[in-house]
Amino acid sequence: MNLSKTIEEIRTEFPILSIKVYGKPLIYLDNGATTQKPEQVIRVMEELYRTSNANVHRGVHRLSDMVSDRYEAARETVRAFINAPKREEIIFTAGTTASINAVAFSFGERFVGEGDEIVISGMEHHANIVPWQMLCERKKAKLKVIPFTDEGVLDLEAYRGMLTERTRIVAVTHVSNVLGTVNPVKEIVAEAHSHGIPVLVDGAQGIQHGIVDVSEIGCDFYVFSGHKVYGPNGIGVLYGKENLLNEIPPYQGGGDMVANVTFEKTTYNELPFKFEAGTTNFTGAIGMAAALDYLSSLGREAVAEREQTLLARATSGMSAIEGLRIYGTAPHKVSVISFLPGAIHPYDAGMILDKMGIAVRTGTHCAQPVMERYGITGTIRASIAFYNTEEEIDAVLRGIGRVTEMFA
Ligand code: PLP
Repeated sequence: MNLSKTIEEIRTEFPILSIKVYGKPLIYLDNGATTQKPEQVIRVMEELYRTSNANVHRGVHRLSDMVSDRYEAARETVRAFINAPKREEIIFTAGTTASINAVAFSFGERFVGEGDEIVISGMEHHANIVPWQMLCERKKAKLKVIPFTDEGVLDLEAYRGMLTERTRIVAVTHVSNVLGTVNPVKEIVAEAHSHGIPVLVDGAQGIQHGIVDVSEIGCDFYVFSGHKVYGPNGIGVLYGKENLLNEIPPYQGGGDMVANVTFEKTTYNELPFKFEAGTTNFTGAIGMAAALDYLSSLGREAVAEREQTLLARATSGMSAIEGLRIYGTAPHKVSVISFLPGAIHPYDAGMILDKMGIAVRTGTHCAQPVMERYGITGTIRASIAFYNTEEEIDAVLRGIGRVTEMFA
């Protein structure tokens, strides 16, 4: 499967990829943290501010109408991109974190009480831990954690044993932002559903690396951020099944989420607006839709295949470096490699690589429990996107080689 454009063509569409850092060509391998934006996204947002800016869903005037239409078209783009059954099931939020907090609050208000249980996994980002802990604290509920193996594979046997009649929701990540593991979310959902338990899937990383089909996964909620999928930041998605979204209360009150307001009683708007209080980030939503369209036009399978090729090159190169350990060796993983070159502190290595123009992430990656699981304080993470090149991977491997020599 080929991309619809050459890598050279693609790279010219991402203006930032041609900048220099410390006089060296930028090698951007921090795509797990945020992705770079193509001209197609930048242009759409600029054009919107230049020619069509007005508040969404607010006015009868032409500009407001135009923006509202484009905002709703963006919702349809998202729906089609993740194969959600209905447009009303797509809620625009500020991002993954905002979406998880919204579900933890609203679902928690409606369905979680004292002594109930919430199941998450041991490889979650803090965004899929802390909102559930806060809910447990509020409701005196209990958090249960699915363990994972040294390779970074969830222990499904343990998971099955964890589900009880007190389990109210399961919340797991589609893809680990540290280990790169692609979790068997379809299986996880099927198991939970056989007990009548809904499942939230954190798709912050999943959306970037593969084809996400929420109808096939069967999950009740799927959440992601625009900035991790080549779109703008400050915008994200909460997909939820219509029946559940109808059952849970709104988590924010304000303009647009209401049907009728009096001082005695307020009634809420229908989906999706019930969950979109106030002026939403409509520019972001339209920009994110442009990013999704861009990915679709490249060929989503081809994007995933290219990333796998680059991952294989990086993995085999790193495996040949003496003393280097890769954290996360699951058979099914995406192009995210966490590693430690011997006893060298990740910050030291990261700073030296930075001086070579190489942007990697160092630290705990907002996943301290994963670090604890391995008894380490942090890793270096190279997260690869389709626009990275073989030459960049080789340059990073040489860079790591230099770092290890310097500390030898
Ligand atoms: N979940 C995972 C798996 C992530 O990787 C991240 C960000 O790195 C988040 C949640 C939080 O995303 P955001 O900061 O865009 O809300």
